[in-house]
Amino acid sequence: MITARVHDLATALSGDDLPAYVYDLTALGAHARAVRNALPPGVELYYAAKANPAPPILRALAPHVSGYEVASGGELEHVRTAVPELPLAFGGPGKTDGELRRALKLGVERFHVESEHELRLLAELAAEQDRPADILLRVNLPLDAAATVGAALAMGGRPSPFGLDPDRVEHLLPLFTADGPLRLRGIHAHLASGLDAPTQVTVAAGIAHWARKLSDRHGSALTEVNVGGGMGVDYARPDRRFDWAAYGGGMADIAQRNPDLTLRIEPGRALTAYCGWYLTEVLDIKHSGGEAFAVLRGGTHHLRTPAAKQHDHPFRILPTEEWPRPWPRPAAREEPVTLVGQLCTPKDVLARHIPVARLRAGDRIAFALAGAYAWNISHHDFLMHPKPGFHYLDA
Ligand SMILES: *Cc1c(COP(=O)(O)O)cnc(C)c1O
Repeated sequence: MITARVHDLATALSGDDLPAYVYDLTALGAHARAVRNALPPGVELYYAAKANPAPPILRALAPHVSGYEVASGGELEHVRTAVPELPLAFGGPGKTDGELRRALKLGVERFHVESEHELRLLAELAAEQDRPADILLRVNLPLDAAATVGAALAMGGRPSPFGLDPDRVEHLLPLFTADGPLRLRGIHAHLASGLDAPTQVTVAAGIAHWARKLSDRHGSALTEVNVGGGMGVDYARPDRRFDWAAYGGGMADIAQRNPDLTLRIEPGRALTAYCGWYLTEVLDIKHSGGEAFAVLRGGTHHLRTPAAKQHDHPFRILPTEEWPRPWPRPAAREEPVTLVGQLCTPKDVLARHIPVARLRAGDRIAFALAGAYAWNISHHDFLMHPKPGFHYLDA
Protein backbone atom coordinates (compact mmCIF):
# COMPACT_ATOMS: atom_id res chain seq x y z
CA MET A 1 0.00 0.00 0.00
CA ILE A 2 2.96 2.35 0.45
CA THR A 3 3.90 3.95 -2.86
CA ALA A 4 7.47 3.48 -4.13
CA ARG A 5 8.28 7.18 -3.84
CA VAL A 6 7.13 7.37 -0.26
CA HIS A 7 9.10 4.25 0.55
CA ASP A 8 12.25 5.68 -1.02
CA LEU A 9 11.92 8.89 0.92
CA ALA A 10 11.26 7.01 4.15
CA THR A 11 14.58 5.22 3.87
CA ALA A 12 16.51 8.23 2.52
CA LEU A 13 15.62 10.68 5.31
CA SER A 14 18.00 10.85 8.26
CA GLY A 15 16.78 10.30 11.79
CA ASP A 16 16.85 14.03 12.43
CA ASP A 17 14.60 14.60 9.41
CA LEU A 18 11.97 12.45 11.10
CA PRO A 19 9.14 12.39 11.85
CA ALA A 20 7.88 13.55 8.50
CA TYR A 21 4.55 13.74 6.79
CA VAL A 22 4.76 12.67 3.18
CA TYR A 23 1.91 13.22 0.74
CA ASP A 24 1.87 11.58 -2.66
CA LEU A 25 0.04 14.17 -4.74
CA THR A 26 0.18 12.01 -7.85
CA ALA A 27 -1.60 9.20 -6.01
CA LEU A 28 -4.07 11.76 -4.64
CA GLY A 29 -4.82 13.08 -8.13
CA ALA A 30 -5.32 9.57 -9.50
CA HIS A 31 -7.64 8.66 -6.63
CA ALA A 32 -9.68 11.85 -6.97
CA ARG A 33 -9.96 11.31 -10.72
CA ALA A 34 -11.23 7.77 -10.13
CA VAL A 35 -13.79 9.04 -7.61
CA ARG A 36 -14.93 11.74 -10.04
CA ASN A 37 -15.23 9.20 -12.86
CA ALA A 38 -17.27 6.83 -10.70
CA LEU A 39 -19.89 9.53 -10.11
CA PRO A 40 -22.60 10.43 -12.61
CA PRO A 41 -21.53 13.55 -14.55
CA GLY A 42 -24.28 15.70 -13.01
CA VAL A 43 -23.31 14.96 -9.41
CA GLU A 44 -21.07 17.68 -8.01
CA LEU A 45 -18.07 16.66 -5.93
CA TYR A 46 -17.00 19.12 -3.23
CA TYR A 47 -14.08 18.48 -0.88
CA ALA A 48 -14.61 19.13 2.84
CA ALA A 49 -11.47 21.14 3.59
CA LYS A 50 -11.41 20.36 7.28
CA ALA A 51 -10.12 16.84 6.49
CA ASN A 52 -6.83 18.35 5.29
CA PRO A 53 -6.60 21.99 4.20
CA ALA A 54 -2.91 22.04 3.20
CA PRO A 55 -2.66 24.20 0.05
CA PRO A 56 -0.82 21.58 -2.05
CA ILE A 57 -3.62 19.13 -1.24
CA LEU A 58 -6.34 21.65 -2.12
CA ARG A 59 -4.58 22.44 -5.39
CA ALA A 60 -3.99 18.79 -6.32
CA LEU A 61 -7.72 18.20 -5.93
CA ALA A 62 -8.76 21.25 -7.96
CA PRO A 63 -8.93 19.56 -11.39
CA HIS A 64 -11.23 16.87 -10.01
CA VAL A 65 -13.67 18.74 -7.75
CA SER A 66 -16.46 21.25 -8.35
CA GLY A 67 -15.76 23.19 -5.16
CA TYR A 68 -14.86 23.08 -1.48
CA GLU A 69 -16.86 22.97 1.70
CA VAL A 70 -15.44 25.23 4.41
CA ALA A 71 -16.59 25.35 8.00
CA SER A 72 -15.05 28.47 9.53
CA GLY A 73 -13.96 31.98 8.65
CA GLY A 74 -10.38 30.72 8.78
CA GLU A 75 -11.01 27.96 6.26
CA LEU A 76 -12.94 30.38 4.13
CA GLU A 77 -10.03 32.83 3.76
CA HIS A 78 -7.50 30.05 3.44
CA VAL A 79 -9.27 28.05 0.75
CA ARG A 80 -10.29 31.16 -1.22
CA THR A 81 -6.61 32.14 -1.35
CA ALA A 82 -5.31 28.65 -2.20
CA VAL A 83 -7.83 27.90 -4.97
CA PRO A 84 -9.57 31.17 -5.87
CA GLU A 85 -11.09 29.77 -9.05
CA LEU A 86 -13.51 27.30 -7.43
CA PRO A 87 -16.79 27.84 -5.56
CA LEU A 88 -17.12 27.57 -1.79
CA ALA A 89 -19.92 26.30 0.39
CA PHE A 90 -19.75 27.78 3.90
CA GLY A 91 -21.14 25.46 6.58
CA GLY A 92 -20.66 24.78 10.25
CA PRO A 93 -22.37 25.83 13.48
CA GLY A 94 -21.81 29.14 15.25
CA LYS A 95 -20.97 31.41 12.35
CA THR A 96 -20.21 34.87 13.70
CA ASP A 97 -21.40 38.23 12.35
CA GLY A 98 -17.85 38.93 11.21
CA GLU A 99 -17.52 35.61 9.41
CA LEU A 100 -20.85 36.04 7.63
CA ARG A 101 -20.02 39.62 6.60
CA ARG A 102 -16.71 38.49 5.20
CA ALA A 103 -18.30 35.53 3.40
CA LEU A 104 -20.83 37.83 1.76
CA LYS A 105 -18.07 40.21 0.74
CA LEU A 106 -16.05 37.35 -0.75
CA GLY A 107 -19.13 36.22 -2.66
CA VAL A 108 -19.28 32.75 -1.16
CA GLU A 109 -21.36 30.64 -3.52
CA ARG A 110 -23.43 28.72 -0.96
CA PHE A 111 -24.30 29.20 2.69
CA HIS A 112 -25.25 26.07 4.61
CA VAL A 113 -27.50 27.57 7.26
CA GLU A 114 -27.58 25.77 10.59
CA SER A 115 -30.32 27.57 12.55
CA GLU A 116 -33.14 30.06 12.44
CA HIS A 117 -31.07 32.72 14.17
CA GLU A 118 -28.30 32.27 11.64
CA LEU A 119 -30.77 32.65 8.78
CA ARG A 120 -32.15 35.89 10.23
CA LEU A 121 -28.65 37.21 10.85
CA LEU A 122 -27.62 36.38 7.31
CA ALA A 123 -30.73 38.13 5.98
CA GLU A 124 -29.86 41.26 7.96
CA LEU A 125 -26.20 41.31 6.92
CA ALA A 126 -26.96 40.52 3.29
CA ALA A 127 -29.52 43.36 3.18
CA GLU A 128 -26.94 45.68 4.77
CA GLN A 129 -24.39 44.83 2.10
CA ASP A 130 -27.00 44.64 -0.63
CA ARG A 131 -25.71 41.27 -1.67
CA PRO A 132 -27.73 38.09 -2.21
CA ALA A 133 -27.06 34.93 -0.21
CA ASP A 134 -27.62 31.55 -1.84
CA ILE A 135 -28.72 29.12 0.78
CA LEU A 136 -29.01 25.46 1.54
CA LEU A 137 -30.84 24.77 4.79
CA ARG A 138 -29.04 22.10 6.77
CA VAL A 139 -31.55 19.58 8.03
CA ASN A 140 -31.06 17.11 10.84
CA LEU A 141 -33.11 14.35 9.25
CA PRO A 142 -33.88 11.16 11.12
CA LEU A 143 -31.70 8.37 9.86
CA ASP A 144 -33.29 5.03 9.40
CA ALA A 145 -31.75 3.07 12.28
CA ALA A 146 -30.91 0.21 9.99
CA ALA A 147 -29.09 2.51 7.63
CA THR A 148 -26.56 3.56 10.21
CA VAL A 149 -25.56 0.36 11.89
CA GLY A 150 -21.85 0.64 12.34
CA ALA A 151 -21.65 4.33 11.53
CA ALA A 152 -18.73 5.65 13.50
CA LEU A 153 -20.06 9.15 13.96
CA ALA A 154 -23.80 9.38 13.46
CA MET A 155 -25.10 12.88 14.03
CA GLY A 156 -28.40 12.91 12.19
CA GLY A 157 -31.84 12.34 13.61
CA ARG A 158 -30.89 12.68 17.23
CA PRO A 159 -30.59 15.80 19.35
CA SER A 160 -27.72 17.69 17.76
CA PRO A 161 -26.19 21.15 17.49
CA PHE A 162 -26.05 20.66 13.71
CA GLY A 163 -28.77 21.76 11.36
CA LEU A 164 -32.48 22.31 11.78
CA ASP A 165 -35.05 19.80 12.93
CA PRO A 166 -37.14 18.85 9.88
CA ASP A 167 -40.35 20.39 11.23
CA ARG A 168 -38.60 23.75 11.76
CA VAL A 169 -37.65 24.02 8.11
CA GLU A 170 -41.24 24.68 7.07
CA HIS A 171 -41.45 27.67 9.42
CA LEU A 172 -38.44 29.31 7.83
CA LEU A 173 -39.69 29.23 4.26
CA PRO A 174 -41.59 32.55 4.59
CA LEU A 175 -38.24 34.29 5.26
CA PHE A 176 -37.34 33.67 1.63
CA THR A 177 -39.22 36.50 -0.03
CA ALA A 178 -39.08 37.45 -3.68
CA ASP A 179 -37.55 40.86 -2.94
CA GLY A 180 -35.32 39.80 -0.01
CA PRO A 181 -31.62 38.96 -0.16
CA LEU A 182 -32.04 35.28 0.72
CA ARG A 183 -32.35 32.76 -2.08
CA LEU A 184 -33.30 29.23 -1.11
CA ARG A 185 -31.42 26.83 -3.36
CA GLY A 186 -32.04 23.62 -1.52
CA ILE A 187 -31.26 21.29 1.32
CA HIS A 188 -28.05 20.13 2.94
CA ALA A 189 -27.65 17.13 5.22
CA HIS A 190 -24.51 15.52 6.59
CA LEU A 191 -25.84 12.81 8.83
CA ALA A 192 -23.10 10.31 9.61
CA SER A 193 -19.48 9.41 9.06
CA GLY A 194 -17.93 6.06 8.30
CA LEU A 195 -20.74 4.60 6.20
CA ASP A 196 -20.20 2.04 3.45
CA ALA A 197 -21.43 2.68 -0.10
CA PRO A 198 -24.83 0.92 -0.01
CA THR A 199 -25.71 2.67 3.27
CA GLN A 200 -24.58 6.03 1.92
CA VAL A 201 -26.84 5.54 -1.09
CA THR A 202 -29.79 4.74 1.18
CA VAL A 203 -29.13 7.87 3.22
CA ALA A 204 -28.74 10.02 0.08
CA ALA A 205 -31.98 8.67 -1.38
CA GLY A 206 -33.76 9.52 1.87
CA ILE A 207 -32.46 13.09 1.85
CA ALA A 208 -33.39 13.63 -1.82
CA HIS A 209 -36.85 12.18 -1.21
CA TRP A 210 -37.44 14.44 1.76
CA ALA A 211 -36.29 17.49 -0.20
CA ARG A 212 -38.61 16.68 -3.06
CA LYS A 213 -41.59 16.28 -0.75
CA LEU A 214 -40.82 19.63 0.87
CA SER A 215 -40.56 21.19 -2.55
CA ASP A 216 -43.88 19.65 -3.65
CA ARG A 217 -45.70 20.75 -0.49
CA HIS A 218 -44.62 24.34 -0.87
CA GLY A 219 -44.44 24.74 -4.58
CA SER A 220 -40.97 26.16 -4.02
CA ALA A 221 -38.42 25.03 -6.52
CA LEU A 222 -35.62 23.46 -4.54
CA THR A 223 -32.99 22.74 -7.12
CA GLU A 224 -30.09 21.42 -5.05
CA VAL A 225 -29.50 18.70 -2.52
CA ASN A 226 -26.16 18.29 -0.81
CA VAL A 227 -26.09 14.86 0.83
CA GLY A 228 -22.89 15.49 2.79
CA GLY A 229 -19.73 13.46 3.27
CA GLY A 230 -18.85 10.64 5.61
CA MET A 231 -17.77 8.03 3.08
CA GLY A 232 -16.02 5.42 5.18
CA VAL A 233 -12.30 4.79 5.56
CA ASP A 234 -11.52 1.44 7.12
CA TYR A 235 -8.45 1.82 9.32
CA ALA A 236 -8.51 -1.85 10.28
CA ARG A 237 -8.49 -2.93 6.62
CA PRO A 238 -6.75 -0.14 4.71
CA ASP A 239 -6.92 -2.03 1.42
CA ARG A 240 -10.72 -2.13 1.51
CA ARG A 241 -11.70 1.22 0.12
CA PHE A 242 -15.11 2.82 -0.15
CA ASP A 243 -16.89 1.34 -3.16
CA TRP A 244 -17.19 4.45 -5.32
CA ALA A 245 -18.46 2.45 -8.31
CA ALA A 246 -21.42 1.12 -6.30
CA TYR A 247 -22.01 4.55 -4.81
CA GLY A 248 -21.90 6.19 -8.25
CA GLY A 249 -24.43 3.65 -9.53
CA GLY A 250 -26.77 4.38 -6.62
CA MET A 251 -26.40 8.13 -7.12
CA ALA A 252 -27.22 7.71 -10.82
CA ASP A 253 -30.51 6.06 -9.80
CA ILE A 254 -31.31 8.91 -7.42
CA ALA A 255 -30.46 11.47 -10.12
CA GLN A 256 -32.74 9.67 -12.56
CA ARG A 257 -35.65 9.73 -10.10
CA ASN A 258 -35.01 13.45 -9.40
CA PRO A 259 -34.15 14.96 -12.77
CA ASP A 260 -34.69 18.54 -11.56
CA LEU A 261 -32.26 18.28 -8.65
CA THR A 262 -28.56 18.98 -8.69
CA LEU A 263 -27.01 16.44 -6.35
CA ARG A 264 -23.82 17.33 -4.50
CA ILE A 265 -21.56 15.41 -2.14
CA GLU A 266 -18.79 16.71 0.12
CA PRO A 267 -16.46 13.95 1.30
CA GLY A 268 -13.28 14.76 3.18
CA ARG A 269 -11.64 11.71 4.70
CA ALA A 270 -12.30 9.27 1.86
CA LEU A 271 -10.61 11.64 -0.61
CA THR A 272 -7.39 12.47 1.21
CA ALA A 273 -6.75 9.83 3.89
CA TYR A 274 -4.89 7.50 1.53
CA CYS A 275 -2.40 9.99 0.09
CA GLY A 276 -0.56 10.72 3.36
CA TRP A 277 1.99 8.86 5.46
CA TYR A 278 3.51 9.73 8.79
CA LEU A 279 7.08 8.46 8.77
CA THR A 280 9.13 7.98 11.85
CA GLU A 281 11.65 5.72 13.55
CA VAL A 282 11.82 3.51 16.60
CA LEU A 283 13.90 5.25 19.28
CA ASP A 284 13.74 2.49 21.85
CA ILE A 285 12.16 -0.87 22.57
CA LYS A 286 11.51 -1.85 26.12
CA HIS A 287 9.69 -4.56 27.98
CA SER A 288 7.49 -3.79 30.94
CA GLY A 289 5.38 -6.28 32.86
CA GLY A 290 5.94 -8.79 30.09
CA GLU A 291 4.78 -6.48 27.31
CA ALA A 292 6.85 -4.89 24.56
CA PHE A 293 6.70 -1.14 23.90
CA ALA A 294 8.24 0.59 20.92
CA VAL A 295 8.91 4.24 21.68
CA LEU A 296 8.73 6.24 18.46
CA ARG A 297 10.10 9.63 17.54
CA GLY A 298 7.01 11.87 17.49
CA GLY A 299 3.60 10.57 18.54
CA THR A 300 -0.02 11.57 18.84
CA HIS A 301 0.89 15.28 19.06
CA HIS A 302 1.60 14.88 15.33
CA LEU A 303 -0.83 12.07 14.51
CA ARG A 304 -3.80 12.29 16.82
CA THR A 305 -5.99 10.13 14.58
CA PRO A 306 -5.62 6.88 16.57
CA ALA A 307 -6.24 8.69 19.88
CA ALA A 308 -9.23 10.56 18.47
CA LYS A 309 -10.80 7.50 16.87
CA GLN A 310 -9.60 4.99 19.46
CA HIS A 311 -8.14 2.65 16.89
CA ASP A 312 -4.82 0.98 16.10
CA HIS A 313 -3.34 3.03 13.32
CA PRO A 314 -2.19 0.89 10.39
CA PHE A 315 1.57 0.95 9.76
CA ARG A 316 4.35 -0.82 8.01
CA ILE A 317 7.82 -1.57 9.36
CA LEU A 318 10.71 -0.52 7.12
CA PRO A 319 13.73 -2.32 8.59
CA THR A 320 17.13 -0.61 8.69
CA GLU A 321 20.31 -2.58 9.25
CA GLU A 322 22.56 0.08 10.75
CA TRP A 323 23.16 -0.06 14.46
CA PRO A 324 26.08 2.20 15.37
CA ARG A 325 26.17 1.50 19.13
CA PRO A 326 28.49 -0.99 20.84
CA TRP A 327 25.66 -2.45 22.97
CA PRO A 328 22.89 -4.82 21.83
CA ARG A 329 20.14 -3.34 19.72
CA PRO A 330 16.83 -3.13 21.62
CA ALA A 331 14.36 -5.40 19.85
CA ALA A 332 11.05 -7.22 20.02
CA ARG A 333 10.71 -10.60 18.31
CA GLU A 334 7.63 -12.68 17.52
CA GLU A 335 5.49 -10.85 20.03
CA PRO A 336 2.85 -8.16 20.25
CA VAL A 337 4.20 -4.61 20.48
CA THR A 338 2.52 -1.40 21.55
CA LEU A 339 3.68 1.64 19.58
CA VAL A 340 3.85 4.79 21.66
CA GLY A 341 5.13 8.31 21.14
CA GLN A 342 7.34 10.66 23.15
CA LEU A 343 4.64 12.29 25.23
CA CYS A 344 4.49 11.90 29.00
CA THR A 345 0.96 10.62 28.97
CA PRO A 346 -0.35 7.06 28.76
CA LYS A 347 -2.72 8.22 26.01
CA ASP A 348 0.12 8.66 23.55
CA VAL A 349 -0.53 5.30 21.88
CA LEU A 350 -0.59 4.84 18.12
CA ALA A 351 -1.24 1.09 17.96
CA ARG A 352 -1.71 -1.48 20.70
CA HIS A 353 -0.57 -5.10 20.98
CA ILE A 354 0.27 -5.54 17.31
CA PRO A 355 2.06 -8.85 16.57
CA VAL A 356 5.40 -8.30 14.83
CA ALA A 357 8.03 -10.75 13.59
CA ARG A 358 10.78 -8.33 14.51
CA LEU A 359 11.02 -4.68 15.45
CA ARG A 360 14.23 -2.99 16.49
CA ALA A 361 15.43 0.42 17.61
CA GLY A 362 16.39 2.28 14.45
CA ASP A 363 13.78 0.61 12.23
CA ARG A 364 11.55 2.99 10.35
CA ILE A 365 7.76 3.03 10.67
CA ALA A 366 5.39 4.31 8.01
CA PHE A 367 1.87 5.01 9.29
CA ALA A 368 -0.62 4.84 6.45
CA LEU A 369 -3.94 6.68 6.05
CA ALA A 370 -2.41 9.83 7.48
CA GLY A 371 -3.66 12.22 4.80
CA ALA A 372 -6.89 13.25 6.56
CA TYR A 373 -7.71 14.34 10.13
CA ALA A 374 -4.09 13.72 11.09
CA TRP A 375 -1.63 16.62 11.48
CA ASN A 376 -4.37 19.26 11.41
CA ILE A 377 -6.31 17.77 14.33
CA SER A 378 -3.24 17.21 16.53
CA HIS A 379 -2.10 19.24 19.55
CA HIS A 380 1.28 20.18 18.14
CA ASP A 381 2.58 22.25 21.00
CA PHE A 382 1.99 19.83 23.82
CA LEU A 383 5.46 19.06 25.30
CA MET A 384 7.27 21.27 22.76
CA HIS A 385 8.75 18.53 20.63
CA PRO A 386 9.93 19.61 17.18
CA LYS A 387 7.43 19.79 14.34
CA PRO A 388 7.62 17.10 11.66
CA GLY A 389 8.92 17.77 8.17
CA PHE A 390 6.43 18.04 5.30
CA HIS A 391 7.00 16.61 1.85
CA TYR A 392 4.55 16.91 -1.03
CA LEU A 393 5.60 14.55 -3.79
CA ASP A 394 4.53 15.74 -7.20
CA ALA A 395 4.90 14.25 -10.65
C1 LIG B 1 -16.79 16.89 8.38
C2 LIG B 1 -17.84 17.17 7.39
C3 LIG B 1 -17.77 16.61 6.12
C4 LIG B 1 -16.71 15.63 5.70
O1 LIG B 1 -16.83 14.44 6.43
P1 LIG B 1 -15.88 13.19 6.06
O2 LIG B 1 -16.24 12.17 7.08
O3 LIG B 1 -14.47 13.66 6.17
O4 LIG B 1 -16.21 12.77 4.66
C5 LIG B 1 -18.74 16.98 5.20
N1 LIG B 1 -19.73 17.83 5.53
C6 LIG B 1 -19.84 18.38 6.76
C7 LIG B 1 -20.95 19.31 7.06
C8 LIG B 1 -18.90 18.07 7.74
O5 LIG B 1 -19.03 18.58 8.96
